Amino acid sequence: MTRIIQFAPPDIRDSDIEAVVATLKSGWITTGPKVMELEEKLKSFLDAQIVSGMSCATAGMETILRYLGIGPGDEVITSVFTYTASASAIYHAGARIRLADVTPGGFHMDPRSVEALITEKTKAVIAVDYGGLPCNYDGIYEVLTNHRAQYKPLKGTPQEQFDRIICISDAAHAFGTQYKGKYVGNVADFTSFSFHAVKNVVSGEGGALSAAKHVPLEDDFKLKIRLWSLHGQNKDAYKKLRQGWKYDIELLGYKYNMTDMEAALVLSQLNRLDEIYNYRRELFELYKELLASEPRIHLLHFLPDEVVSSYHIMPIRIEGFDEPQRDELMEKLAERGVPTNVHFIPLAMHTAYKNLGFRIEHFPMAYATYQNLVTLPLHMKLTHEDVKYICEQLLNVLRARG
Ligand SMILES: *Cc1c(COP(=O)(O)O)cnc(C)c1O
Repeated sequence: MTRIIQFAPPDIRDSDIEAVVATLKSGWITTGPKVMELEEKLKSFLDAQIVSGMSCATAGMETILRYLGIGPGDEVITSVFTYTASASAIYHAGARIRLADVTPGGFHMDPRSVEALITEKTKAVIAVDYGGLPCNYDGIYEVLTNHRAQYKPLKGTPQEQFDRIICISDAAHAFGTQYKGKYVGNVADFTSFSFHAVKNVVSGEGGALSAAKHVPLEDDFKLKIRLWSLHGQNKDAYKKLRQGWKYDIELLGYKYNMTDMEAALVLSQLNRLDEIYNYRRELFELYKELLASEPRIHLLHFLPDEVVSSYHIMPIRIEGFDEPQRDELMEKLAERGVPTNVHFIPLAMHTAYKNLGFRIEHFPMAYATYQNLVTLPLHMKLTHEDVKYICEQLLNVLRARG
């Protein structure tokens, strides 16, 4: 019997709905008390120095680049194996995108590939915690530290607070993950999280930007981030209510603020974070057990002593498959009611990046990972029976091919 399985539906409960309704009735729906409450909660949960609510992860990345004064003439390195947002944020800040390849057989940026791209124009690196698996931060920090001499901070900007290239994390997949005993959010210098509808914790849109404890921050960092994300206006509506109407526009900012409705949704889900992560891990372990009999299938591999995953997605690689064979497998699974995806099509394969001069031929490792990659469903509404069905179908299709 064919089942209908969804790929990544949100898991919204009555308690979430009640939290949003309470916010709607409170008379305060945009950036206000709920955003501030969330910022404080996230700060203590992540053990970070500062957390600021944002409209999305992309906005968080662009905001931190702009705050740091990174723009035209500068270069920022990110992974070729990511969603466009990690790189488009660099472009929109006005800097040049440099793309690094991944490790052989892997999903994360190879520190050696990062190293090869460093020049005296390099101001920051945006690492991507693919699939909710923190990347090799020790390897990246080592490269950035070794290349200290090449770091040329722009005078009169917060870049001067740093003595090496700045490390930013695109942790859109990685809220709640840990790297060597620290929460992601307190590992890279700055970290951007997403609460988009398909992520582990959702608010429709929404995100958060954190600064790690080790970062030498200016006293007014939080205020500055708020300025950049809210029109450069020195009093938001909430402050105007309490401190009088007269405001100033201090800089030409963006409209990247988080709303109280979004914050209420995230706050409500924080109450069941353990349940979310335990269930996702349970599904991952079930997949692992059911697919163990097929040696051609490789799962996202990690060392539990070093990292705690968020089990955000369920990518598998089929050894020996090329791109057409992978595509055919996905079609056959779709016919059997199993939706799949590919995370990600390397950036150098997309039109906009080809137009910038990137060519997939220069990223052989990313292409090798991409060509036999399939993402299976993994979400809170997926049952054990669903996982059994998905694995049965997958193994049947693979074995029918031989
Ligand atoms: C979803 C995603 C983003 C974008 O997150 P938004 O909150 O929608 O801006 C960025 N990077 C990666 C890797 C993502 O998967």
